[in-house]
Amino acid sequence: MDADVEKLCRLVRIPTVSSTDEAEVDAEVFERFLAALAEEFPLLHERLEVTRVRDHSLLLRWAGRDPDAAPVVLMAHLDVVPVDPTAPWQHPPFGAEVHDGAVWGRGTLDDKGSLVATCVAVERLLAADAVPARDVWLSFGAREEVSGEDAAAAVGLLRERGVAPWFVLDEGGAVAHQAFPGVAPPLGVVGVSEKGTTTLELVAEGRGGHSSTPSRGGPTARIARAVVRLESRPFPARLPAPTAELFRRIAPHAPLPLRPLFAAASRLEPLVTRALLAAGPEPAALVRTTMAVTQLSGSPAHNVLASRATAAVNLRILVGDTVASATEHVRRAVADDSITVTVLEAGEPSPVSPVDDPAFELLAATIAAEFPDAVPTPYVMMAATDSRFFTAICERVYRFTPFRMTKEQRESIHSYDEHVGVADWLAGVAWYERLLRDLP
Ligand SMILES: [Zn+2]
Repeated sequence: MDADVEKLCRLVRIPTVSSTDEAEVDAEVFERFLAALAEEFPLLHERLEVTRVRDHSLLLRWAGRDPDAAPVVLMAHLDVVPVDPTAPWQHPPFGAEVHDGAVWGRGTLDDKGSLVATCVAVERLLAADAVPARDVWLSFGAREEVSGEDAAAAVGLLRERGVAPWFVLDEGGAVAHQAFPGVAPPLGVVGVSEKGTTTLELVAEGRGGHSSTPSRGGPTARIARAVVRLESRPFPARLPAPTAELFRRIAPHAPLPLRPLFAAASRLEPLVTRALLAAGPEPAALVRTTMAVTQLSGSPAHNVLASRATAAVNLRILVGDTVASATEHVRRAVADDSITVTVLEAGEPSPVSPVDDPAFELLAATIAAEFPDAVPTPYVMMAATDSRFFTAICERVYRFTPFRMTKEQRESIHSYDEHVGVADWLAGVAWYERLLRDLP
């Protein structure tokens, strides 16, 4: 087997599962991962300045030729989500076995594939005594999957050192095959914004008491009414600029009757948003802030009236809305002063990074060079990444994972049967290598 693929396999086999409960985290496993990383990439650890962030995250600086040029930051995370033991994995999730030309295992796509590919690219350039045109920082997080503070801590360290990056690149989009019905070429989707994750709690209170003598309008009934009202008052739809740009770029590849609509998406916003809302939950999520009631609670026993009923509402806030405006929408939709609405978790959508810009152009050109069949395009990400913390120190934050992924592979992330094609992974290494060589 290819020696670099061997490295990926070794690192996938180390189950760096993170958890919001620190007591659940096996620190020894993370230490083992970092030790293996140092063994596999000796030049990178010898010639780059290595800083541990909190306990298991890494920040590395590779000094470039021009100390005055704004540096770039390449990010990835080394933690993975747990494996559901009942999920029908075809191959052991931490086995990193090679079958049908692919490495199978948790983290191969999200996000050890990226992390190891970045390290291989840097190691190859170091072996060739190449020096990047400007400083390159690598930021490898150990708590991405649990929305931990490590990335914020890394940002703090960079800020202390006065680092103002030219651009930041993290996981996110991919060379996505079967990305859009009727569009044949794969799309090289680069995330330029991500939705904000916010959770609200609705609480209704009342007298409680014995369930044999209920009165009308108790806490559970009011919470139920609020939930139904939320469902009947969704957020208004709109087309954010990056989504309109995505339609413009895929228009020439779309089915003929749709081309004029896609090409003029920004002018035909009401028509396009209506079509997307009707096309199913995924397209609908592109064009509005979504809300989902995920948890309900009432009384602790069958025969006890609830004195307190609650509903948790998980929101994914589209750029243009804010935590405050979304909370206000929920209050108005619920239209019940007896229900209190509190913010449990506040996450604003990330600002939109520029598309008409040399940094985006560089990423798009690198995509075009390594994946000539793909259409590079910006998009708004649905999921959250550690890079959102970097928007505090950089206005150009992009999210792209340079691997070809089928629809099935994208669905395997955080699920089962996650795998990366060996050739696809090596193409990803070449992509990072080219990007680093081509830094102006
Ligand atoms: Zn990830």
